[in-house]
Amino acid sequence: MKPLSLGVMLGVGEEPRESFKKVVELGLPTVQMGCPPEKYLAGRGWGELKEIIRQSGVTITTVFCGFAGESYADIPTVRRTVGLVPPDTRAERVAKTKAIIDFAHALGVKDVAAHIGFIPEDESDADFQELVQVMRGICDHADANGQNFCLETGQETAAALLNFIENVDRPNLKVNFDPANMILYGSGDPIDALELLGPYVEGVHAKDGTWPKEKDKLGSETPLGKGDVGIDRFIAKLKEIGYTGPLTIEREISGERQKQDILAAIGLLKSLI
Ligand code: MG
Repeated sequence: MKPLSLGVMLGVGEEPRESFKKVVELGLPTVQMGCPPEKYLAGRGWGELKEIIRQSGVTITTVFCGFAGESYADIPTVRRTVGLVPPDTRAERVAKTKAIIDFAHALGVKDVAAHIGFIPEDESDADFQELVQVMRGICDHADANGQNFCLETGQETAAALLNFIENVDRPNLKVNFDPANMILYGSGDPIDALELLGPYVEGVHAKDGTWPKEKDKLGSETPLGKGDVGIDRFIAKLKEIGYTGPLTIEREISGERQKQDILAAIGLLKSLI
């Protein structure tokens, strides 16, 4: 894979052949795969999926985790429903995360990523210490397969995320850096955050957005280049820190508008790389 290879976030869904066809039509060499359907986690259909991927010629750089019951409606809802932080669903979601790690391993994919939820900033919080233990278990599971686990940015400040990573203290705990999320959640300037988290960055989302206008609300996602990230300075900073991984376009809408925005993003990124 070439440095800064372009890619797109891909929901594989129930029709993986159609999904990969779209990526080939866009002319992109890489994808990050969204949370796979349950049937694949149960160990069925992997062979067929592997063949579809092989035929497409596309490299999967990361598989993402997702969980039933998650909602990104607003910040209190994210806090209550997303990732491994909510205690009631933690055990089942940890089990699913490990199943996704094994699924990714079966496809030959080294990186698995997730939003794990709002990590408490206070180290003395019992939840912080429990999450450190949970994350060590997940990292060790991935490490046994030679894989990394990547934390999607946004819900915490970069300093809080860095502190959590240092507490977990596992060499295969990395970051999937989403500059738009830093803005959408009001978690701090993405370029400063990238400077701080740089040594841990394993994947990147090319996404844009505007700052929240009201308390407890998220900001608004925009087409790449139309939000507050400053994509030109973001790409310049990635080069400055020596990042050579993929650049994965993420546009969280659907239909024709999504396709047009992705095509425009490809053009913009090519001009900046
Ligand atoms: Mg993202």
